[in-house]
Amino acid sequence: MEKTINSKLLRWYKKNKRDLPWRKLKKNSLPNPYYVFISEYMLQQTTVSTVNKRFEEFINNWPTINDLAKTSEEKILIFWSGLGYYSRARNLLKAAIIIQKNFKGIIPDHYDNLIILPGIGDYTAKAILGIAYNKPTMPVDANIERIIARIFALNSLIKKKILDRSEKFISKKSSTNLIQAFMDFGSIICTPRNPNCTNCFIKDFCTSYKKNIQNDIPQKLKLKLKKKKRYSRAYIFFNEKNEILVRKRHSVGMLASMLEVPNDNWVLSKKNLVKDKLAHKLKNKFISKGSIKYSFNHFDLETEVFFTKVNKSLFTNHIWIKKNNLNKSGLPTIMKKIVKIAI
Ligand code: SF4
Repeated sequence: MEKTINSKLLRWYKKNKRDLPWRKLKKNSLPNPYYVFISEYMLQQTTVSTVNKRFEEFINNWPTINDLAKTSEEKILIFWSGLGYYSRARNLLKAAIIIQKNFKGIIPDHYDNLIILPGIGDYTAKAILGIAYNKPTMPVDANIERIIARIFALNSLIKKKILDRSEKFISKKSSTNLIQAFMDFGSIICTPRNPNCTNCFIKDFCTSYKKNIQNDIPQKLKLKLKKKKRYSRAYIFFNEKNEILVRKRHSVGMLASMLEVPNDNWVLSKKNLVKDKLAHKLKNKFISKGSIKYSFNHFDLETEVFFTKVNKSLFTNHIWIKKNNLNKSGLPTIMKKIVKIAI
Protein backbone atom coordinates (compact mmCIF):
# COMPACT_ATOMS: atom_id res chain seq x y z
CA MET A 1 0.00 0.00 0.00
CA GLU A 2 2.77 2.50 0.89
CA LYS A 3 4.43 1.89 -2.49
CA THR A 4 1.18 2.51 -4.36
CA ILE A 5 0.54 5.73 -2.44
CA ASN A 6 4.11 6.85 -3.16
CA SER A 7 3.74 6.21 -6.91
CA LYS A 8 0.47 8.12 -7.02
CA LEU A 9 1.97 11.02 -5.06
CA LEU A 10 5.01 11.16 -7.35
CA ARG A 11 2.83 11.20 -10.48
CA TRP A 12 0.66 13.94 -9.01
CA TYR A 13 3.71 15.95 -7.92
CA LYS A 14 5.15 15.97 -11.43
CA LYS A 15 2.18 17.97 -12.68
CA ASN A 16 1.19 19.90 -9.59
CA LYS A 17 4.36 20.83 -7.71
CA ARG A 18 4.55 24.33 -6.29
CA ASP A 19 7.02 26.60 -8.03
CA LEU A 20 9.25 27.72 -5.16
CA PRO A 21 12.58 29.54 -5.63
CA TRP A 22 14.61 27.14 -3.46
CA ARG A 23 13.48 24.22 -5.62
CA LYS A 24 15.27 25.24 -8.83
CA LEU A 25 17.07 22.15 -10.07
CA LYS A 26 20.76 21.88 -10.84
CA LYS A 27 22.23 19.69 -13.59
CA ASN A 28 22.05 16.66 -11.31
CA SER A 29 18.25 17.17 -11.09
CA LEU A 30 18.50 18.08 -7.41
CA PRO A 31 18.01 21.49 -5.85
CA ASN A 32 20.98 23.56 -4.71
CA PRO A 33 21.85 22.32 -1.16
CA TYR A 34 22.60 25.90 -0.05
CA TYR A 35 19.12 26.99 -1.15
CA VAL A 36 17.51 24.08 0.68
CA PHE A 37 19.60 24.82 3.77
CA ILE A 38 18.52 28.50 3.80
CA SER A 39 14.87 27.72 3.08
CA GLU A 40 14.71 25.21 5.94
CA TYR A 41 15.93 27.83 8.44
CA MET A 42 13.50 30.39 7.07
CA LEU A 43 10.56 27.99 7.03
CA GLN A 44 10.88 27.10 10.72
CA GLN A 45 7.86 28.98 12.17
CA THR A 46 7.26 31.07 9.02
CA THR A 47 4.77 30.31 6.26
CA VAL A 48 5.79 29.24 2.75
CA SER A 49 4.16 32.32 1.23
CA THR A 50 6.14 34.71 3.47
CA VAL A 51 9.42 32.88 2.83
CA ASN A 52 8.63 32.80 -0.88
CA LYS A 53 8.55 36.61 -0.91
CA ARG A 54 11.88 37.01 0.93
CA PHE A 55 14.00 34.09 -0.28
CA GLU A 56 15.36 35.64 -3.47
CA GLU A 57 16.28 38.82 -1.64
CA PHE A 58 18.27 36.69 0.82
CA ILE A 59 20.08 34.90 -2.00
CA ASN A 60 20.84 38.22 -3.73
CA ASN A 61 22.44 39.45 -0.50
CA TRP A 62 24.34 36.24 0.24
CA PRO A 63 24.60 34.05 -2.88
CA THR A 64 26.82 31.42 -1.26
CA ILE A 65 27.56 29.98 2.16
CA ASN A 66 30.94 31.76 2.10
CA ASP A 67 29.26 35.12 1.52
CA LEU A 68 26.90 34.37 4.38
CA ALA A 69 29.70 33.30 6.73
CA LYS A 70 31.41 36.66 6.18
CA THR A 71 28.40 38.81 7.06
CA SER A 72 27.73 40.43 10.42
CA GLU A 73 25.02 39.44 12.87
CA GLU A 74 23.67 42.97 12.61
CA LYS A 75 23.15 42.70 8.84
CA ILE A 76 21.39 39.36 9.02
CA LEU A 77 19.15 40.57 11.85
CA ILE A 78 18.17 43.62 9.80
CA PHE A 79 17.27 41.32 6.91
CA TRP A 80 15.30 39.02 9.21
CA SER A 81 12.87 41.76 10.23
CA GLY A 82 9.32 40.58 9.50
CA LEU A 83 10.23 36.89 9.59
CA GLY A 84 10.20 36.72 13.40
CA TYR A 85 12.04 34.28 15.69
CA TYR A 86 15.37 36.04 15.34
CA SER A 87 17.30 33.25 17.04
CA ARG A 88 17.02 31.42 13.70
CA ALA A 89 19.00 34.17 12.00
CA ARG A 90 21.73 34.01 14.63
CA ASN A 91 21.87 30.21 14.40
CA LEU A 92 21.97 30.35 10.62
CA LEU A 93 24.99 32.64 10.72
CA LYS A 94 26.76 30.44 13.30
CA ALA A 95 26.04 27.35 11.19
CA ALA A 96 27.37 29.05 8.03
CA ILE A 97 30.63 29.90 9.81
CA ILE A 98 31.03 26.28 11.00
CA ILE A 99 30.29 24.93 7.51
CA GLN A 100 32.82 27.28 5.94
CA LYS A 101 35.52 26.38 8.50
CA ASN A 102 34.93 22.66 9.01
CA PHE A 103 33.24 21.48 5.81
CA LYS A 104 34.99 23.60 3.16
CA GLY A 105 31.83 25.58 2.54
CA ILE A 106 29.82 22.51 1.49
CA ILE A 107 26.49 21.82 3.17
CA PRO A 108 27.05 18.48 4.97
CA ASP A 109 25.37 15.43 3.50
CA HIS A 110 25.55 13.27 6.63
CA TYR A 111 23.07 13.36 9.48
CA ASP A 112 25.76 13.43 12.17
CA ASN A 113 27.40 16.50 10.63
CA LEU A 114 24.12 18.35 10.20
CA ILE A 115 22.63 17.67 13.61
CA ILE A 116 25.57 19.36 15.38
CA LEU A 117 24.90 22.69 13.63
CA PRO A 118 23.11 25.43 15.61
CA GLY A 119 19.41 25.58 14.78
CA ILE A 120 19.26 22.15 13.15
CA GLY A 121 17.16 19.43 14.76
CA ASP A 122 16.11 16.01 13.58
CA TYR A 123 13.47 17.32 11.17
CA THR A 124 15.69 19.93 9.49
CA ALA A 125 18.63 17.51 9.17
CA LYS A 126 16.39 14.96 7.47
CA ALA A 127 14.77 17.59 5.23
CA ILE A 128 18.20 18.73 3.99
CA LEU A 129 19.40 15.16 3.43
CA GLY A 130 16.23 14.06 1.68
CA ILE A 131 15.48 17.14 -0.42
CA ALA A 132 18.99 18.36 -1.28
CA TYR A 133 20.82 15.03 -1.49
CA ASN A 134 18.03 12.57 -2.29
CA LYS A 135 18.98 10.44 0.72
CA PRO A 136 16.33 7.95 1.84
CA THR A 137 14.69 9.60 4.82
CA MET A 138 11.33 11.06 5.87
CA PRO A 139 11.29 14.42 7.68
CA VAL A 140 7.93 14.56 9.41
CA ASP A 141 6.63 18.12 9.31
CA ALA A 142 3.06 19.17 10.17
CA ASN A 143 1.85 18.28 6.66
CA ILE A 144 3.33 14.80 6.63
CA GLU A 145 2.22 14.14 10.19
CA ARG A 146 -1.36 15.05 9.31
CA ILE A 147 -1.43 12.95 6.11
CA ILE A 148 -0.07 9.85 7.86
CA ALA A 149 -2.40 10.34 10.83
CA ARG A 150 -5.37 10.54 8.46
CA ILE A 151 -4.41 7.66 6.21
CA PHE A 152 -4.13 5.35 9.21
CA ALA A 153 -6.72 7.12 11.39
CA LEU A 154 -4.12 7.59 14.11
CA ASN A 155 -4.44 9.79 17.10
CA SER A 156 -2.11 12.59 16.03
CA LEU A 157 -1.05 13.18 19.62
CA ILE A 158 0.82 9.87 19.55
CA LYS A 159 3.88 11.01 17.64
CA LYS A 160 5.80 7.75 17.96
CA LYS A 161 3.19 5.80 15.98
CA ILE A 162 3.17 8.41 13.25
CA LEU A 163 6.96 8.40 13.02
CA ASP A 164 7.00 4.59 12.76
CA ARG A 165 4.36 4.64 10.02
CA SER A 166 6.08 7.45 8.12
CA GLU A 167 9.28 5.41 7.85
CA LYS A 168 7.45 2.82 5.77
CA PHE A 169 7.02 5.48 3.07
CA ILE A 170 10.75 6.21 2.71
CA SER A 171 11.82 6.05 -0.91
CA LYS A 172 15.28 4.75 -1.79
CA LYS A 173 15.42 6.38 -5.22
CA SER A 174 13.01 9.31 -5.27
CA SER A 175 13.35 10.73 -1.80
CA THR A 176 13.66 14.38 -2.86
CA ASN A 177 10.52 14.33 -4.99
CA LEU A 178 8.53 12.18 -2.61
CA ILE A 179 9.18 14.37 0.44
CA GLN A 180 8.20 17.47 -1.50
CA ALA A 181 5.20 15.64 -2.97
CA PHE A 182 3.96 14.88 0.54
CA MET A 183 4.46 18.50 1.56
CA ASP A 184 2.59 19.86 -1.47
CA PHE A 185 -0.18 17.30 -1.16
CA GLY A 186 -0.66 18.40 2.46
CA SER A 187 -0.81 22.06 1.44
CA ILE A 188 -3.07 21.62 -1.58
CA ILE A 189 -5.33 18.58 -1.01
CA CYS A 190 -5.04 17.08 2.46
CA THR A 191 -5.24 20.50 4.06
CA PRO A 192 -5.55 21.05 7.83
CA ARG A 193 -9.20 22.09 7.52
CA ASN A 194 -11.72 20.76 5.00
CA PRO A 195 -9.42 18.40 3.09
CA ASN A 196 -10.43 17.92 -0.54
CA CYS A 197 -11.26 14.22 -0.11
CA THR A 198 -13.64 14.10 -3.08
CA ASN A 199 -10.77 14.82 -5.46
CA CYS A 200 -8.16 12.92 -3.49
CA PHE A 201 -6.40 10.24 -5.56
CA ILE A 202 -5.48 8.17 -2.50
CA LYS A 203 -8.85 8.21 -0.77
CA ASP A 204 -9.27 4.45 -1.35
CA PHE A 205 -6.36 3.95 1.05
CA CYS A 206 -7.50 6.46 3.61
CA THR A 207 -9.05 5.01 6.76
CA SER A 208 -10.19 8.41 8.05
CA TYR A 209 -12.07 9.02 4.82
CA LYS A 210 -13.74 5.62 5.01
CA LYS A 211 -14.78 6.32 8.59
CA ASN A 212 -15.65 9.93 7.75
CA ILE A 213 -13.44 11.22 10.55
CA GLN A 214 -10.94 13.15 8.43
CA ASN A 215 -12.03 16.46 9.93
CA ASP A 216 -11.38 15.20 13.44
CA ILE A 217 -7.72 14.54 12.66
CA PRO A 218 -5.42 16.04 13.77
CA GLN A 219 -6.89 16.15 17.24
CA LYS A 220 -6.15 19.32 19.09
CA LEU A 221 -5.29 19.56 22.72
CA LYS A 222 -8.55 20.65 24.28
CA LEU A 223 -6.96 22.46 27.17
CA LYS A 224 -5.34 25.40 25.47
CA LEU A 225 -3.10 27.05 28.00
CA LYS A 226 -3.97 30.65 28.60
CA LYS A 227 -1.10 32.90 27.57
CA LYS A 228 0.44 35.19 30.14
CA LYS A 229 0.10 38.91 29.67
CA ARG A 230 2.91 41.42 30.03
CA TYR A 231 2.87 45.18 30.04
CA SER A 232 5.18 47.91 28.86
CA ARG A 233 5.26 51.56 27.81
CA ALA A 234 7.17 52.80 24.78
CA TYR A 235 8.43 56.31 24.07
CA ILE A 236 8.79 57.84 20.63
CA PHE A 237 11.35 60.65 20.54
CA PHE A 238 10.72 62.45 17.25
CA ASN A 239 13.17 65.14 16.11
CA GLU A 240 12.96 68.12 13.74
CA LYS A 241 14.46 65.99 10.90
CA ASN A 242 11.61 63.47 11.00
CA GLU A 243 13.77 60.90 12.76
CA ILE A 244 13.03 58.51 15.62
CA LEU A 245 15.44 57.71 18.41
CA VAL A 246 16.32 54.02 18.71
CA ARG A 247 18.84 51.93 20.61
CA LYS A 248 20.15 48.38 20.71
CA ARG A 249 18.57 45.82 23.03
CA HIS A 250 20.64 43.64 25.34
CA SER A 251 22.60 40.86 23.67
CA VAL A 252 20.64 38.19 25.57
CA GLY A 253 16.92 37.57 25.98
CA MET A 254 13.95 38.43 23.78
CA LEU A 255 14.85 40.22 20.52
CA ALA A 256 18.49 40.17 21.62
CA SER A 257 20.71 42.84 19.97
CA MET A 258 17.81 44.16 17.90
CA LEU A 259 16.92 47.83 17.67
CA GLU A 260 14.14 49.22 19.83
CA VAL A 261 12.55 52.51 20.77
CA PRO A 262 13.00 53.36 24.47
CA ASN A 263 10.55 51.30 26.49
CA ASP A 264 9.98 50.07 30.02
CA ASN A 265 10.85 46.54 31.06
CA TRP A 266 8.10 44.08 30.16
CA VAL A 267 6.38 43.22 33.44
CA LEU A 268 3.52 40.98 34.53
CA SER A 269 1.54 43.71 36.27
CA LYS A 270 1.00 47.35 35.27
CA LYS A 271 1.74 48.50 38.79
CA ASN A 272 5.31 47.17 38.46
CA LEU A 273 6.13 49.37 35.47
CA VAL A 274 9.23 51.50 35.96
CA LYS A 275 9.72 54.39 33.58
CA ASP A 276 12.59 53.96 31.13
CA LYS A 277 15.66 55.97 32.24
CA LEU A 278 15.94 58.09 29.10
CA ALA A 279 12.23 58.93 29.13
CA HIS A 280 12.44 59.66 32.84
CA LYS A 281 15.32 62.12 32.39
CA LEU A 282 13.52 64.09 29.70
CA LYS A 283 11.42 66.88 31.09
CA ASN A 284 9.15 67.03 28.00
CA LYS A 285 5.52 66.15 28.18
CA PHE A 286 4.66 62.87 26.48
CA ILE A 287 1.36 62.49 24.66
CA SER A 288 -0.36 59.10 24.85
CA LYS A 289 -1.06 57.65 21.39
CA GLY A 290 -2.99 54.62 22.55
CA SER A 291 -1.83 51.09 23.09
CA ILE A 292 -1.06 48.04 21.02
CA LYS A 293 -1.21 44.33 21.74
CA TYR A 294 1.41 42.06 20.27
CA SER A 295 1.39 38.32 20.57
CA PHE A 296 4.63 36.44 21.17
CA ASN A 297 4.80 32.66 21.37
CA HIS A 298 4.52 32.48 25.15
CA PHE A 299 2.90 35.75 26.14
CA ASP A 300 0.94 38.74 24.90
CA LEU A 301 2.49 42.16 25.32
CA GLU A 302 0.33 45.23 25.85
CA THR A 303 2.23 48.47 25.30
CA GLU A 304 1.02 52.01 25.80
CA VAL A 305 2.76 54.29 23.33
CA PHE A 306 3.88 57.85 24.14
CA PHE A 307 5.13 60.52 21.80
CA THR A 308 7.17 63.68 22.19
CA LYS A 309 9.04 66.08 19.92
CA VAL A 310 12.70 66.66 20.75
CA ASN A 311 15.66 68.56 19.45
CA LYS A 312 18.26 66.25 17.91
CA SER A 313 21.19 68.27 19.28
CA LEU A 314 20.16 67.36 22.83
CA PHE A 315 20.80 63.68 22.14
CA THR A 316 24.39 63.15 21.14
CA ASN A 317 25.62 59.57 20.68
CA HIS A 318 22.19 58.20 19.90
CA ILE A 319 20.93 56.26 16.89
CA TRP A 320 18.21 57.87 14.79
CA ILE A 321 16.24 56.33 11.97
CA LYS A 322 14.33 58.25 9.32
CA LYS A 323 10.56 57.99 9.55
CA ASN A 324 10.49 57.21 5.80
CA ASN A 325 13.03 54.45 6.22
CA LEU A 326 11.10 52.51 8.82
CA ASN A 327 10.62 49.37 6.74
CA LYS A 328 14.33 48.98 6.02
CA SER A 329 15.50 50.09 9.45
CA GLY A 330 15.94 46.64 10.98
CA LEU A 331 13.43 47.36 13.73
CA PRO A 332 11.61 44.16 14.70
CA THR A 333 7.91 44.04 13.79
CA ILE A 334 6.64 44.94 17.26
CA MET A 335 8.76 48.11 17.32
CA LYS A 336 7.61 49.09 13.82
CA LYS A 337 4.03 48.74 15.00
CA ILE A 338 4.72 50.88 18.04
CA VAL A 339 6.26 53.63 15.87
CA LYS A 340 3.42 53.43 13.36
CA ILE A 341 0.70 54.12 15.88
CA ALA A 342 2.63 57.14 17.19
CA ILE A 343 3.38 58.90 13.90
S1 SF4 B 1 -9.01 11.15 1.59
FE1 SF4 B 1 -9.04 13.15 2.51
S2 SF4 B 1 -8.15 12.86 4.51
FE2 SF4 B 1 -7.64 11.05 3.32
S3 SF4 B 1 -5.64 11.51 2.46
FE3 SF4 B 1 -7.15 12.14 0.96
S4 SF4 B 1 -7.51 14.30 1.40
FE4 SF4 B 1 -6.48 13.45 3.16
